[in-house]
Amino acid sequence: MFENLSERLSGVFDRLTKQGALSEEDVKTALREVRVALLEADVSLPVAREFIKKVQDQATGQSVTKSVTPGQQVVKIVHDALVDTLRGDEDPGKLKIDNPPAPILMVGLQGGGKTTTTGKLAKRLKDRDGKKVLMASLDIYRPAAMDQLAVLGAQIGVDTLPIVKGQKPVDIAKRAKQQAALGGYDVYMLDTAGRLHIDEILMQEVEDVRNVVDPRETLLVVDGLTGQVAVEVAQEFDDKIGISGVVLTRMDGDGRGGAALSMRAVTGKPIRFVGLGEKMDAIETFEPDRIAGRILGMGDIVALVEKAQDTIEAEQAERMMKRMMKGHFNMNDLKMQLDQMLKMGGMEGMMSMMPGMGKMAKQVQDAGMDDKVIQRQIALIQSMTKKERANPALLQASRKKRIAAGAGQQVSDLNKLLKMHRQMSDVMKKMGKMGKGKMLKQAMS
Ligand code: GDP
Repeated sequence: MFENLSERLSGVFDRLTKQGALSEEDVKTALREVRVALLEADVSLPVAREFIKKVQDQATGQSVTKSVTPGQQVVKIVHDALVDTLRGDEDPGKLKIDNPPAPILMVGLQGGGKTTTTGKLAKRLKDRDGKKVLMASLDIYRPAAMDQLAVLGAQIGVDTLPIVKGQKPVDIAKRAKQQAALGGYDVYMLDTAGRLHIDEILMQEVEDVRNVVDPRETLLVVDGLTGQVAVEVAQEFDDKIGISGVVLTRMDGDGRGGAALSMRAVTGKPIRFVGLGEKMDAIETFEPDRIAGRILGMGDIVALVEKAQDTIEAEQAERMMKRMMKGHFNMNDLKMQLDQMLKMGGMEGMMSMMPGMGKMAKQVQDAGMDDKVIQRQIALIQSMTKKERANPALLQASRKKRIAAGAGQQVSDLNKLLKMHRQMSDVMKKMGKMGKGKMLKQAMS
């Protein structure tokens, strides 16, 4: 699923010419595909249209960075614009809870994850911020709802307001407010009744509750998988109640999260948290970067491009390539490669940024190719003399001992490094013999 846009774009990008700057035609061609991807990710049509227009203006005429293709450059621009749109002015995870007891009103449709999220946030406030939290369910329509919150509370060690049968939501809210003040609570959270659809009477009820407690935060909880519906719900709640932010649940699922962009664009309200599972700690502060990558369906390839821009000095790499193709691959070259790997966040970091390679990153880690190992290898090379680096064949037993000791390691560690170097230079030699053309063909077959 995540390959969709990459695949489509790679076709387009092959056709894009590499010039000094992005031409209007290049940008238009690429953005057509981006638009389809946005719609596929559940971004609403008017929002997608508006967004593409904005990016079109920004991208045209931008100079193309040396080490990336025009296509990658467009993706980066699109990505940055997405992040820009998604990011609110303030820290999304910072809830306004000074002046205790601070009321937080939780609203949303039934089944969206409101009660679960109430518990998650209460636990977060308790564990991370050391706050004393009281939770109260105002759902008098579904008898099990109040019990559900009480059970959650017991599970996470957060107090819940004692249940009094037959009370109206507004009265429960008043009681919660009183109890919170008397009991010295920092925060009290009101879990309002869920509803299947927007419903006038219930909406009025939430409004009444809001007027009674004057919440510091009114968080709308919506199912991130519902796409367009979520946007309508957000607009409705914001118009009638006024929300201070959105929590997107079920972002652990397959949804592409386009609703986040639409909701942000339509209501102007920030996404504050994302729910990532049923467990009580499966909640995270909203990170625009991640959702942007997800909406584009390109893993974090954008981050990879970004890092490449920063770190790869094209000429240096090319020179090295030429030398290697001729069969020259000494310790200096190896060190340069290892340095490069470290800069890109190690093998693990590089792989985790490539779509579909997340699992392999774990394997690389298990195989012991993490940052520490790379750093130790570099230390060994640094312990060699200039001559030894240029000609590793010089390394006999006494030299090996000296080098290993100089790097604070064993000779066996050095032997491993030398073996890796031998294997790599064998591969280089083979590639050199095959010639560039054949090599590419083989790599692609
Ligand atoms: P409410 O009616 O809005 O209060 O919804 P609930 O809190 O009762 O949640 C409905 C269902 O969705 C429950 O089975 C929750 O465990 C589940 N749920 C809530 N948030 C998430 C989430 O972020 N990810 C997943 N996978 N499930 C969730």
